Amino acid sequence: MKFGGTSVGDAKAIARVVEIVRGRLPQRPIVVVSAMAKVTDQLLQMARAAGAGDRRTALTLARECRERHYNTAGELLGTALFTQFHSDLGTEFEELEELLRGIAAVGELTPRTTDHVASYGEVLSSKLVTAAMSTHDIPAVLLDSRDCIVTDETFTRAAPLFDDTNAKLKELVAPLVEGGQVPVMGGFIGATRGGVTTTIGRGGSDFSAAIVGAGLSADKIEIWTDVDGMMTTDPNICPDAKRIKVISFDEAAELAYFGAKVLHPATVLPAIQKNIPVYILNSRNPACEGTRIAARAPHCKNFFKAIAAKKRITIIDIAAPRMLLAHGFLKAIFDAFDRHRIAVDVVSTSEVSVSLTVDSNEQIPALAADLAKLADVKYEGRKAIVCLVGENLREIPGISAHVFGQLSDVKIRMISQGASEINLTFVIDEDQVPAIVQRLHRRFFSDLDQAIFA
Ligand code: ASP
Ligand code: MG
Repeated sequence: MKFGGTSVGDAKAIARVVEIVRGRLPQRPIVVVSAMAKVTDQLLQMARAAGAGDRRTALTLARECRERHYNTAGELLGTALFTQFHSDLGTEFEELEELLRGIAAVGELTPRTTDHVASYGEVLSSKLVTAAMSTHDIPAVLLDSRDCIVTDETFTRAAPLFDDTNAKLKELVAPLVEGGQVPVMGGFIGATRGGVTTTIGRGGSDFSAAIVGAGLSADKIEIWTDVDGMMTTDPNICPDAKRIKVISFDEAAELAYFGAKVLHPATVLPAIQKNIPVYILNSRNPACEGTRIAARAPHCKNFFKAIAAKKRITIIDIAAPRMLLAHGFLKAIFDAFDRHRIAVDVVSTSEVSVSLTVDSNEQIPALAADLAKLADVKYEGRKAIVCLVGENLREIPGISAHVFGQLSDVKIRMISQGASEINLTFVIDEDQVPAIVQRLHRRFFSDLDQAIFA
């Protein structure tokens, strides 16, 4: 069971976590927690301030962070326990402040030191949650993730060393579970073989949960967050968007590009590879069944799983009547994108031209100037990518006819299907997004019982 930053964001949220875990005790849970909401950002801010020699700002921020943890602990724990816990937290904060003073004195912040500072968020939250569970009669045991998540030395985005990690998990975590205890671990953090603190990348607690769950062959992994799960489309555009009950890993991965903020599926890959289902659940609404991510989703009677849209897209059209199919020409084009460090999303080619989309940004004019040495270049912003995702696209003929049949009055600038077999993508003017998404959602999602395949 992994609880994200908002799920442990204050005393009330942590109290909810305690009850959610209580409900799962018969299933012998392991708990992985993020830092309290925004704490990692604040720690990184402290580290940067200290690195710039601004000791005062760094220590002021640390004091605020200390207050927040004390206040939360005070609300959660009875007086006797709070006194003991207060001094325990105090020791952590003294160490943190010592570290910040050291960084400020040297005036240099290395990735290694950054990780050391950032790790306090999960160290503190895991202590807090363990104490809260203990006072409420849950047999919680704190486990320092740095003792079991073994990583390489790529500080700030370290990669787990799975063999070492799995061995440690079996040695340190499994016996606790078997003994009827509930291990509580901080997500996001680990350590090198030599014991130096590392972090595994922002948002990494989901990854931690998947590493632990996969390493111990859990029956399932629950990612507790503050929404009911993944939705058929953005509820801000379509208030009648529905919760997706089951989604395949591939479908979820396609949607991640569109900023499905709930979870980046790549982070749960270790679980998916072992066929362990991953659930996204809402700690504010624990009765809701959430969304299950499975290696393979069962057949869905709906055409699609979801409709996503991404605005702030620019289309770049490159026309080169004589050159396009010449050997090496596309390479020259992509090299230009590479030099400007601009990522391409949708690509479509013809005999004489190639169109690409990129996220709108300030570097485009410079890129266009570079490309103009090779061919005629035009670019146009205020576009949007609309993407329909679903495993059914692999098998069912004529789906695109159904989609584009709905769009006979719309100027479609690019179309792409086939790259992943499970997404149908097209590009339109940005201001048309709400109307088009609503129209498609109404057609493909409003009446799920409608026999659209008949
Ligand atoms: N606390 C870390 C972060 O904010 C990891 C996580 O929350 O997943 O990036
Ligand atoms: Mg997160």
